[in-house]
Amino acid sequence: MNDLPLARFTVDRLAELRSNPQWFEQAWAADNTRVLVLHERSIPVTDELSIVWVKPWSLKMSQSEAQEVALFLGADEDHTYIAIMEDEVGLTDVNWASLRDVGAALSAKDVGLATAAIALSAWHEGHQFCPKCGAKTEVAMAGWSRKCNVHDSEHYPRTEPAMIVAVEDLAGRILLGRRREWPEGWLSTLAGFVEAGESCEAAVIREVYEESGIHVDLQSLKYMGSQPWPFPASLMLAYRAVATSTEVEMHDEEMTEVQWFSRDEFVAACTAQTLKLPSPVSIAFRLIQSWYGEDIPMQWCRS
Ligand SMILES: [Zn+2]
Repeated sequence: MNDLPLARFTVDRLAELRSNPQWFEQAWAADNTRVLVLHERSIPVTDELSIVWVKPWSLKMSQSEAQEVALFLGADEDHTYIAIMEDEVGLTDVNWASLRDVGAALSAKDVGLATAAIALSAWHEGHQFCPKCGAKTEVAMAGWSRKCNVHDSEHYPRTEPAMIVAVEDLAGRILLGRRREWPEGWLSTLAGFVEAGESCEAAVIREVYEESGIHVDLQSLKYMGSQPWPFPASLMLAYRAVATSTEVEMHDEEMTEVQWFSRDEFVAACTAQTLKLPSPVSIAFRLIQSWYGEDIPMQWCRS
């Protein structure tokens, strides 16, 4: 699966610059630097759904203030890109949008930069204190780490691997389920976090069994691709797999219904709106589309 909406990073991250102390000073003063201001995990977009990038000098913020909340995203031949975890900087006349809502509509460059910015800012928000001694940590490495000055340790952003799988039976039916917190009609492919000390393939077998009672043939697993899902820190690893059993029996409290859909049943349920598919920005949507074998009409998705 190519061109997954949130996996389209096109800009050089220039990781080697992150530890250069002069870098930020120069970048903040440069006329070709563009800043993405974040507001409660939302991004500023125009009515035409492109990101509102601003120049550093247009913000009500000094260089030293900015440095404490800046995330260096990368650079291309035209611009250097920085995100700022601070909305009190005088940005007006913009729409604040969630990456989930606008991610599929943004350009590859914009969505790649916004995905990195949202993932990093979520990590900073949840990791303000040293996990070893509890002291307040400071932003370091141009936003790519946090430093504890009490015992001189550095801490890096975490990504949590999660698997998602389109399970088919031998008759070609797809297995879809509804999580307990989802409204009626919202069904999707099964998914779950990889546990400590577990391979992703083992997580597929375990989660499918826990959520549906279905046994999956390990040899049938086919890796389909990955995309970051920074809500707040997941990396979704997608598979297709074939079941060796068909009787559904739920073993945990996560799901409220799990059922098989033949192609005809799937089309009928989507048309009748009794089945509402995940948003096109999700890897789940693309997995379901890969099973379906042709483009899925947008009106079949949750709005
Ligand atoms: Zn510490």
